[in-house]
Amino acid sequence: MNCLFCSIVSGDIPSTRVYEDERVLAFRDINPQAPVHILVIPKVHLSSLDEVTEKSSALIAHLLEVIPSIARAEGLTNGYRVVTNIGEDGCQSVKHLHFHILGGAKLGEQMA
Ligand code: 5GP
Ligand code: ZN
Repeated sequence: MNCLFCSIVSGDIPSTRVYEDERVLAFRDINPQAPVHILVIPKVHLSSLDEVTEKSSALIAHLLEVIPSIARAEGLTNGYRVVTNIGEDGCQSVKHLHFHILGGAKLGEQMA
């Protein structure tokens, strides 16, 4: 499968990694929309949150558990935002599940 984030997991495409374990990878977004903008992804390919079922729920729980420690390591002590875009209407451009961590400044109040 030709997937950008699978290629980042394999190392075929370089990225600036900030966290990694056997199931999850976090790296800096190439086009940051906030002073801190990190993408957190499962290493296995899931196309979006819409594909998550009971079978993958433990993986997703683990992914969510690592987010606070990544945020702490990035100095996001005053809050931050976590976003996952899904599909066409959600403006998802990379079809490998990812959570954006955005912070380092007061973010816009508008969510959409
Ligand atoms: P989406 O729009 O799918 O929610 O978010 C995809 C994100 O991936 C965007 O914020 C975009 O800047 C980021 N991105 C796209 N290509 C690359 C890349 O090659 N490397 C990194 N680090 N981020 C990328
Ligand atoms: Zn993938």
